[in-house]
Amino acid sequence: MNDNPAASDTTVTAVGLRGITKRFGDVVAVDNIDLDIGDGEFFALLGPSGCGKTTTLRMIAGLEFPTQGSLKIFDHEVGTLPPNKRPVNTVFQNYALFPHLDINDNVGFGLRMQRVKKAEIKTRVGEALEMVKLSNMGERKPDQLSGGQQQRIALARALVNRPKVLLLDEPLGALDLKLRVEMQSELKTLQRELGISFVFVTHDQEEALTMSDRIGIMDQGQLLQVDPPEAIYERPVNRFVADFIGQTNLLEGNVESSDVVCLLNGARIPLDTGLAVGSSVSVILRPERATIGSRREIEPGQSAVDGVIRSITYLGNAIVYRVGLDWMEIDVREENLPHETRHEPGEEVTVSWDHGAVAVVEGQG
Ligand code: ATP
Repeated sequence: MNDNPAASDTTVTAVGLRGITKRFGDVVAVDNIDLDIGDGEFFALLGPSGCGKTTTLRMIAGLEFPTQGSLKIFDHEVGTLPPNKRPVNTVFQNYALFPHLDINDNVGFGLRMQRVKKAEIKTRVGEALEMVKLSNMGERKPDQLSGGQQQRIALARALVNRPKVLLLDEPLGALDLKLRVEMQSELKTLQRELGISFVFVTHDQEEALTMSDRIGIMDQGQLLQVDPPEAIYERPVNRFVADFIGQTNLLEGNVESSDVVCLLNGARIPLDTGLAVGSSVSVILRPERATIGSRREIEPGQSAVDGVIRSITYLGNAIVYRVGLDWMEIDVREENLPHETRHEPGEEVTVSWDHGAVAVVEGQG
C-alpha cells in the first residue's frame, strides 16, 4: 500500500497536465484532464480497456500530441517536443527488443544513436544491466532469455538513458501470474532505489493497489479519482470506482434523514451521508466487511439484513457465500479458518456489518 507518504504531497511536480484533451476524429480519447504527478512518485493510471490511459501516457511520452491543453514536465511546456527531447523513456508491453542484437547492443542502442562514446556506452549499459540484475547476460540474444528477463532488458534499455520519468505501458501484461507478482515487487524496489517517477498504465486493479503511491482511475477519457490506494478502496467517489476496484456489494437506498439510509427493502441503517434527504444512494459493502450469523445475532453498533444462502464458492483461503436478500443478492467473504461454522445453501441467515464498515456514494445503478 502507500508506504511512501511523501510522494503524494511532494512539492516538485514531475508531470503536470492541465485541460488535456486528445481527439482522434470524432473519438474523444482523453477528455479535459488535470493531473500532477510528483517527482519520485509511483503513479498508476488505471481503467477499463479504451478509457484513454495509454493515450495519456503516449502524450506524456511525446508519441501523441494533445489536441488541447498544457503538458509540462518539470515545469517546462513540452508541447510538440519529440520523445527524444523529453526527459522520459517508455517501456512497452511487447518489450520491442531487436532479435538480431545481443543484450548489450539492445540496451546500448539508443546511446549509439545519440553518438555517445563507446566507453561511456559500455559503462552505462553495465550499470543498467546491474539495476535489473542481469549483468551476466549481456552476450545473449533476446530469444535466449525468459519472458521475465526480456521484460527486465526492456527496462534496462529505458533506464540507460537516465530518464527523470519512466513511463510503463502494461509492462507486466505478457507475464504469467507468478512472475508478474515477482516483477511487481522488483519494479517497486527499483523505483525506490532510483527515486524517479514511474507512471504505470494498467487495467489490473490489484497491480495498481499493491504498487502505487497514488492511482488515477479513468473512464471514458475522464479522470474520476486520484488518490492513494487506500482512499480509492475505502472512499471511492462514485459507483464506477467502487465497482471497478475490488469486489463490492452496492445496496441501493434513499437518504431518509441526516443519519439514516433506508434500503430498497425498507431496512433502515444508521449512516451519515452528508447528502440531502431523499437523495438516492448506493451503500458500498465490501464482501470481507460483512459477516454471516444466525438470524437476529446482531451486536450493538452493527447493521444487518436477513437473507438466505444461495451458493458457496470455495477459494481455499476464503469462502464466498452468495446471499439472497429480498431484493438483490450480495457476496460475503469469510476467511477459511478451522472450526469456523460453515453455512449451507438454503440456510436462513443474517448478514451484519459494523456501522463504520461501509461507505456511500450518490446515485443508483
Ligand atoms: P487499452 O487498455 O485497451 O489499451 P486504453 O485505456 O489504453 O485501452 P486508449 O488506447 O488510450 O485506451 O484509447 C482510448 C480511445 O481512443 C479508444 O476508444 C481508442 O479506440 C481510441 N484511439 C486510441 N488511439 C487511436 C488512434 N490512433 N486513432 C483513433 N482512435 C484511437
